[in-house]
Amino acid sequence: MKNKSIYVTSPLLPPLEDFTLLLKEIWNSKTLTNNGNFHQLLEKELCSYLKIPYLSLFTNGTLPLIVALQALRITGEVITTPYSFVATTHSLWWNGIKPVFVDIDPITCNLDPNKIEAAITPLTTAIMPVHVYGHPCDTEQIQKIADKYGLKVIYDAAHAFGVETAGKSILEHGDMATLSFHATKVYNTIEGGALICHDEQTKKRIDYLKNFGFAGETTIVAPGINGKMDEVRAAFGLLSLKMVDRAIQSRQEIALQYQAGLEAASGITCMKGIGDTKLNYSYFPIFVDADQYGMTRDELYCKMKEKNIFGRRYFYPLISNFSTYKGLNSAKPENLPNATKIANSVICLPIYDGLKQEEVASIINLIIEK
Ligand SMILES: *Cc1c(COP(=O)(O)O)cnc(C)c1O
Repeated sequence: MKNKSIYVTSPLLPPLEDFTLLLKEIWNSKTLTNNGNFHQLLEKELCSYLKIPYLSLFTNGTLPLIVALQALRITGEVITTPYSFVATTHSLWWNGIKPVFVDIDPITCNLDPNKIEAAITPLTTAIMPVHVYGHPCDTEQIQKIADKYGLKVIYDAAHAFGVETAGKSILEHGDMATLSFHATKVYNTIEGGALICHDEQTKKRIDYLKNFGFAGETTIVAPGINGKMDEVRAAFGLLSLKMVDRAIQSRQEIALQYQAGLEAASGITCMKGIGDTKLNYSYFPIFVDADQYGMTRDELYCKMKEKNIFGRRYFYPLISNFSTYKGLNSAKPENLPNATKIANSVICLPIYDGLKQEEVASIINLIIEK
């Protein structure tokens, strides 16, 4: 146990024998990509699993963000959160759109709806929030603001696979939502992602855009990109979809063990779900109050590392602190006090299907004993 390294996550892998059988089918069919059978089947099965009518598969979770902005013809300025993975803001940059950072709510870690209106200018065309750690944004409040100012809403739902509020998919909210199926996520296709929209016409447009803009053999309807998922990864995804419920359940058990074990730890706060939400336990963030705990976040992070436990400081640094963005007015730390504080206190603890009870217990002990 002492020498075994424990990482923040470990990928969900389908049985190799099952995958080999599907690979044989692919070899026989000689269809490797371009909307093959496995691709079509996975789109269908994901729609049914996620309880949504329209989903387009992509080769990763960044391209759906870029394509969503294209599909909705977003320009000018977009209001977004600094507390996310860089891909969220990069997708704006790749479209020549100016990101405008707005602070987060200190409890949910999501874009604070009460601060959005003050950041709206005549150039604002959309809001791009993130359901951080799979915890839902205040979708109602955000939609109200969007309606009032005629803005589009694109949710980066990369962390929110399978998350539901009041029995409904979180992906139903906004004009579009995106998913990532990267190896580190709750559900993975090795690399992969998806774009969720709400009508057939839009789905068609998205499918053109992810295939260079081809709407027929000789017709190009838009300057599209290549975002297509191949048959090998779609087959992998079909197999891992069968395992994801069990994986989420075992993540939930780990989350409960952490929560109970860390309850008494002074200066350590765990994130808890709020309201009627079915979470996916994609991450287990804790927040370190250095004064109370008697050790800074980075000291704890390093101490864990010395014991071969590799938590991750998601999300530190803030996106607004990276060189590309830090010159923007909205990137100033004074504008983002909650995000700055959270980024300096967070560690995501290891959580994945296959992490053993005694391993979780030893991580809890390490944190409590200091
Ligand atoms: C993982 C992630 C992405 C990017 O997904 P890729 O599949 O790695 O391209 C985008 N946004 C957030 C919030 C993510 O965590």
